[in-house]
Amino acid sequence: MDGALVDLDAVAHNTRLLTQRLGTAALMAVVKADGFGHGAAQIARTALTHGASWLGVTSAAEALALRAEGIDAPTLSWLVGPDEDFTAMIGAGIDISVPAIVHLDAVATAAVRAQQPANVHLKVDTGLSRGGATPDTWLDLLAWAWRYEVMGVIRVRGVWSHLAKAEDRAHPSVAGQLTAFRQAVAQAREVGLRPLLHLANSAAILDVPEAHFDMARAGIALYGAEPIAGKRFGLRLAMTLSARAVLVKRVPAGTGVGYGHTYVTDRETTLALVPLGFADGVPARAIVPGEVLVRGVRRPIAGRVAMDQFIVDVGDLPVEVGDEVTVFGPGDRGEPTVSDWASWVGTNAQDILTGVGVRVPRVYHADSTAASTLERV
Ligand SMILES: *Cc1c(COP(=O)(O)O)cnc(C)c1O
Repeated sequence: MDGALVDLDAVAHNTRLLTQRLGTAALMAVVKADGFGHGAAQIARTALTHGASWLGVTSAAEALALRAEGIDAPTLSWLVGPDEDFTAMIGAGIDISVPAIVHLDAVATAAVRAQQPANVHLKVDTGLSRGGATPDTWLDLLAWAWRYEVMGVIRVRGVWSHLAKAEDRAHPSVAGQLTAFRQAVAQAREVGLRPLLHLANSAAILDVPEAHFDMARAGIALYGAEPIAGKRFGLRLAMTLSARAVLVKRVPAGTGVGYGHTYVTDRETTLALVPLGFADGVPARAIVPGEVLVRGVRRPIAGRVAMDQFIVDVGDLPVEVGDEVTVFGPGDRGEPTVSDWASWVGTNAQDILTGVGVRVPRVYHADSTAASTLERV
């Protein structure tokens, strides 16, 4: 197999696992960044079939792309500036996250123009210091949102926030953000709003039940990477990145390999050339040499990863042109996982997954139990 094989059964399994953890709270499948590189529409359909009821993305374009695919589930877009084309979003029935009055006014103006109320989720900054209204602007935002709601221009469907360190439930920020969120919610109720509440991400779904509220937003766990170091919740990795060797050659000891000759063979060996490079998501800046699986054995990448290709020193393994080389996968066959790569590079699994380039074909797999999902591929 050449490309990124996406196991939709794994996504279905992860969705069900997260849904069970949530109990009565709803699950929003986060399919931003093209479904963390897996393909937003495919992931959205699979997640919606297996228990998710909402979709979450950042940009308006991502949300509109889901609609263009015929996906009409409730969808929240949470990273838009006040000059966004809100009329198009309202027309497509997309919920809009609002962090400040300037955004709220712009959405309200567009809603009047569209002659259709806009669904908004008011975002409060409970301590991440990223999106959302700070406590000193929150009350004004609530007051204006309430006015627009009474006018019939806006419906406040949600109040939400995002955690800074849910993967460490004992970290003081978790309790601090929960307290800040509850206070912000109480203030929203005081002005008369009755919104859906959502705070939790993947790690909080799995490990911070008091953060579940009415709905939770799952990203990385949907794709199978365990979000909490040292804890396993039974998630299954969905993506396998591999390619077939396009050239194999025997070289003597002392052969410089790749740009800069950063690798020199220390004995006669076999080199295999793999047509995946940093443009395809194979990290070029690993702290330790990355490994790949070939003929059931882990072998190191030799020298620098180039834009389009890398070389593996396979030693005396009987590797042939056409042999599959796996960069990462679920780990079942001994191949590295995306989490292994994250540690070799000094980053997180999200970074590795979303780095898989547009040139890599995504190929979808689902067994018979998920045949209804596959048919729509
Ligand atoms: C990306 C993102 C998520 C998903 O987070 P995970 O930790 O991957 O589950 C949830 N909420 C917001 C606001 C995000 O930006």
